[in-house]
Amino acid sequence: MAGLFDVPSCDKCRNPAIHHQVYSGRMMCGAHLAESVRKKASKALREQLFLPKGEHTTILVAISGGKDSAVLLERLHENLGKRRDVTLVGGCVDEGIEGYRPPSLECARQLCEDLGIRFETVSYPELGFKEMDDVVNKIVQLEEKKAPCSYCGVFRRQGINHLADRVNADVIALGHNLDDMAQTIMMNMQNGDLERTLRLAPHTSTPLEGMVPRIVPLRWIPEQEIHLYALHKKLPIHHEECPHGEGALRFRHRETIAMMESDVPGTRHGLLRMADDLKRLHASAGGKFNTISPINCPECGQMCSGKICKACEMKKQMQ
Ligand code: SF4
Ligand SMILES: [Zn+2]
Ligand SMILES: [Zn+2]
Repeated sequence: MAGLFDVPSCDKCRNPAIHHQVYSGRMMCGAHLAESVRKKASKALREQLFLPKGEHTTILVAISGGKDSAVLLERLHENLGKRRDVTLVGGCVDEGIEGYRPPSLECARQLCEDLGIRFETVSYPELGFKEMDDVVNKIVQLEEKKAPCSYCGVFRRQGINHLADRVNADVIALGHNLDDMAQTIMMNMQNGDLERTLRLAPHTSTPLEGMVPRIVPLRWIPEQEIHLYALHKKLPIHHEECPHGEGALRFRHRETIAMMESDVPGTRHGLLRMADDLKRLHASAGGKFNTISPINCPECGQMCSGKICKACEMKKQMQ
């Protein structure tokens, strides 16, 4: 008989539930939540990753020491780790953030060690950028309006490209979850930036010129479920947030999306489905982008659409 203090039980096995999946109405225990995460990640991976027969594929998995990329690496290892035609490499960019990056870098290294995966890292100074702590000081000094994350995002992308180059990667795997995707799509809509949504990963059927294709196998899984999964699997993860992230627009988008989701469960899925439909529509209409064709940045050689790339422009500004 159900008593007043009974914990709700899992729909599938009657064990105590640890999660209410509001958008599906399901109650889930740890084991069944884990099963759901595994299934979604495997399905997305099947849809996004094509392994050409008779060829070797190297996948650079961008890891940060945080929960999302830890789950990403653990899943890829489980799905592909035994294949002889696939090599996984964990790559972590060191932004130079005291108190935050060193311990999270250790978590990333630990996870690779636990799984027996090669680990690579590159720091901002190695790439010719200032450490983020110095960038933040410079921003204050210049009374710059841009948030630290605007710089960091651009520099980190260079870092990931650099690591992909170093290991000769054919594919880059990123740990974006459903909330991240929904936030990005919202931000792009707010900026009227359709092109950025059309360029969103996965690039399986929409490759971008001059760029290693990205896959995002966790994109249908909500952040909270990834967090619970990481705890359930006892993955080594760093829980702290970056001290420079505060005030970033993304954090307000996080709140907005969470509010919309609680008002209308399924909002995040809806936004992502809409973005997929837009990509399909665009591809079926010939799939051209508005921008002028990309050139190689004269400073660093990376593909860019301006005179020099964003990273080199920001690097100059921060000198
Ligand atoms: S929160 Fe911003 S500054 Fe900190 S690591 Fe992320 S992008 Fe960089
Ligand atoms: Zn269960
Ligand atoms: Zn450049």
